[in-house]
Amino acid sequence: MSGRFMGWEQGNSPCVLYRGRELTPQKLYTLLLKLWKRDTCAPRMRKDWTEENPTLGQCSITAFLAQDIFGGKVYGVPLGDGNFHCFNAGEGWRFDLTSEQFGAIILSYENAPEQFREAHFAKEEKRLRYEALKASLHAALREMGEMRIALTFDDGPNTSITPQVLDILKENGAVASFFLIARNIDESSAQVARRAWEMGCEINNHSLTHSHMGAMTAEEIRREVADCTEKIVEITGAPPRFFRPPYIDVSPTLFDAVDLTFICGVGCQDWIMDVSAQERIDTILRTARDGGIVLLHDMPGNVNTVEAVKTVIPELKAWGFRFVTCGQLFDETATRPVRGRLYSSVYQTADRI
Ligand SMILES: [Zn+2]
Repeated sequence: MSGRFMGWEQGNSPCVLYRGRELTPQKLYTLLLKLWKRDTCAPRMRKDWTEENPTLGQCSITAFLAQDIFGGKVYGVPLGDGNFHCFNAGEGWRFDLTSEQFGAIILSYENAPEQFREAHFAKEEKRLRYEALKASLHAALREMGEMRIALTFDDGPNTSITPQVLDILKENGAVASFFLIARNIDESSAQVARRAWEMGCEINNHSLTHSHMGAMTAEEIRREVADCTEKIVEITGAPPRFFRPPYIDVSPTLFDAVDLTFICGVGCQDWIMDVSAQERIDTILRTARDGGIVLLHDMPGNVNTVEAVKTVIPELKAWGFRFVTCGQLFDETATRPVRGRLYSSVYQTADRI
């Protein structure tokens, strides 16, 4: 594929891992070549749109879609007829994915005024064309292959936040893994954990008392873990496969004493109440990877995490992720857990990341 849009050869074009996909403007353009259609062309140019000239009438919806992925700003070259030709620019980069429609005409990109999606999408027909182009991009990315991700929740079970998380999982046909603190299990919270298990979620071990375990003796460790496992077996009938050390505080003694696979995961600081739902969403979406484990908390009062998962589950599904349990992540990838390793991704090759 040779460069065909303004900015193609630019060495400093942004390349981002977005929703688990490594995307460059070139890759996006290559995908869009198959997705730009007469239907997504601006109505006033639709009669002139052809497959040979696919970028015609696609500029603003394409530029705002590219902005979703690469950030930066959208600017518009005044065309003299009251319309603007939209392109993207950010710190040290500039590209125009729909420049081909101008053929040999060289546009002047200097001093172009910024364009705002609120103004462009005030036109309902334009917003719908943007949504259609975005949906077809999602579909094209899903076709590139499925990705797996495991949501994990610590510090439950409880009867306030855990059921809300389960409701969202159910609405989205998703599963997750819950790491229980045995001390939190009573008659009513056990019911919640049982509901999770019956939904296909996984129930795992997060110790008895949620203490720092790095300095504990082997005997103290065994009691913490065995008591939690026992409570889990009472609920599910099956022993857990995975263990998350409280505060990720580990020691060689801990690894020796606990015969379970250790899970860490990539967090979004969701144990800090001041971290907003939007900040949590942004971090999860930015760090989502195929084979990744997301560390979250369903502790009482953690409403921002409930809000965050409401958004991230459908969004990541749209980009081709399937939600799996930790067990499915290891089984489906035929990964044999390595002893002494603290997993944040099933594809991890170092003991810690
Ligand atoms: Zn915890």
